[in-house]
Amino acid sequence: MGSIIDGKAFADRLSESLKLEVASLIANHNLQPSIAVVLVGDDPASHVYVRNKVRRCEQLGIESIEHRLPSSTSQEELLTLIEQMNQDSNINGILVQLPVPDQIDDKAVIDAIAPEKDVDGFHILNAGALAVGQNQMIPCTPLGSLMLLKDQLGNLSGMHAVVIGRSNIVGKPMASLLLQENCTVTTVHSRTRNIEEICRTADILVAAVGIPRMVKADWVKEGATIIDVGINRIEEDGKSRLVGDVDFADVIDKVNAATPVPGGVGPMTIACLMYNTVAAAKKQAGIS
Ligand code: NAD
Repeated sequence: MGSIIDGKAFADRLSESLKLEVASLIANHNLQPSIAVVLVGDDPASHVYVRNKVRRCEQLGIESIEHRLPSSTSQEELLTLIEQMNQDSNINGILVQLPVPDQIDDKAVIDAIAPEKDVDGFHILNAGALAVGQNQMIPCTPLGSLMLLKDQLGNLSGMHAVVIGRSNIVGKPMASLLLQENCTVTTVHSRTRNIEEICRTADILVAAVGIPRMVKADWVKEGATIIDVGINRIEEDGKSRLVGDVDFADVIDKVNAATPVPGGVGPMTIACLMYNTVAAAKKQAGIS
């Protein structure tokens, strides 16, 4: 049986070291890293995500400033708030929880955030920097996934990595990071032909699709390492539960290691948000 990659334990260790770093920044530099979190509207899942992020900040000693805006908020109002936060030197990181209501263009919002405060790593300048290998702010989910892979496998050089999904927030940055690690990278997506056949050639398989348990045992190579980014809520046996894009129970006997859902990539995403916030605060204060 393959091993279970414990993302929660790794995220706890990372958070513990960030907590020490925050304490040292406060003691030695009078610098308390801070993040502003903006939530527009009343999407229940977004409320849960924001609550979790704010709670994590508090645990680590990072200051969090919450802005909860009504669903009627106009794009102009949101952009004005972002501009104020860009100018505020007490704020190191800005996160606007997506999705935003329909009257607001999410691209305009992302691009309004100062790149050095874009702790999600979604700004076009941060995306471009990653694409050319001059990493600035790396999106949290791919960053956390890469940390788990390196912890599990060490040197990734020469491995064939297949990424399922080509979104700007997960699939594309994940492929760029794996390429930087000298993997041979294949991206597959909704229009790919023979997707199962390609996945079967992967030493590393990253699934970021949003289809519950899509990846079965016959999609994976014996001994492969699997990162399941998917978070899908399904009703099963009269219960609501979270499952990934990978059929974990089906693949685990065949693979070297796999992340579970929940408890895999999810906790790493929040820990990496804290990591990016601390890094942003240090950079803005000129601390190496
Ligand atoms: P997205 O909808 O933006 O992108 C999905 C991608 O999957 C697309 O590129 C599409 O081409 C591809 N796809 C769709 N159907 C496919 C098919 N049948 N075969 C192959 N590829 C197909 O989604 P996203 O934002 O990249 O998120 C993907 C999943 O990851 C979702 O379940 C999301 O909830 C989850 N997610 C988890 C975290 C985390 O912290 N663990 C963070 C972000 C997203």
